[in-house]
Amino acid sequence: MSTTGLRIGLGEDSHRLAEGGPLRLGGIDIPHDRHAIGHSDADVLLHAITDAILGAAALADIGELFPDMDPANKNRDSAEMLRMAHERVAAAGYRIVNLDCVVQAEQPKLVPRKAAIRKRIAEILSLDIEQVNVKGKTGEGVGAVGLQEVIQARCVVLLVK
Ligand code: MG
Repeated sequence: MSTTGLRIGLGEDSHRLAEGGPLRLGGIDIPHDRHAIGHSDADVLLHAITDAILGAAALADIGELFPDMDPANKNRDSAEMLRMAHERVAAAGYRIVNLDCVVQAEQPKLVPRKAAIRKRIAEILSLDIEQVNVKGKTGEGVGAVGLQEVIQARCVVLLVK
């Protein structure tokens, strides 16, 4: 396989957590006693994916495309932002080969929600579910993740021209 048209991208994000659910993650609302705080809907996983695909195509990042000073982005659906970023990536001539993501959250357990999250991400990006992987890691009870002060996500993506 020729590697000339391959591009790797990395996205990271974090959001503070506050009392009261649900938790928006990976484009779905998960019943939980905390939610993520942000200007948009604070979907940490979709934000990491958005930055990964934009970064792989060397395009402007999520903060440049959707500034948090812009009232249009208040409470904005991150699925819409990801779809718009994906359109830019496609317009630059790239398609997604696969995504691999890690969510760092002490609670809730991701395993029971993984299939639904992968399905939703695949739907937003018009991918097969096999092209989307999501893993959950706890903070082992220590640090900001372990104390449930923050939720974090990372994503790597491979694009092909
Ligand atoms: Mg964010």
